[in-house]
Amino acid sequence: MPDQDLSASHRGRILVADDEPHIRRILATFLEASGFAVDQAIDGTQALELLEGPVPYEVALLDIMMPGPNGLEVLEAARLLPHRAGLPILILTAKGQDTDREAAFALGAEDFITKPFSPKKLLARIQKLIRGP
Ligand SMILES: [Mg+2]
Repeated sequence: MPDQDLSASHRGRILVADDEPHIRRILATFLEASGFAVDQAIDGTQALELLEGPVPYEVALLDIMMPGPNGLEVLEAARLLPHRAGLPILILTAKGQDTDREAAFALGAEDFITKPFSPKKLLARIQKLIRGP
């Protein structure tokens, strides 16, 4: 099946957690235009509340630098939630430090993207996470 068919027909829900409103807006606009539903969290506390709740997510995007628990702490907490055990989590960061990258993968992140990012490349990474390698 061509990639375009998958994105056009896909109605999965994605959690976007970032404390910067313009980043959330860019991500939400692009992902919704690509056929996903998007829930936005403005900080780590809200991200964790949504992950603790019952809403099914196909992918979660977590910024590292956020008020409340940071993205790595949210990732670590999410991995302890039985209903999120298989959730692909993609870490977003402006820092781009290798220590963050290593920490993210050690905590069970599936992918790691450094800002600024290309929305098209991010979408390709998300689709790969949903489909598997
Ligand atoms: Mg941030």
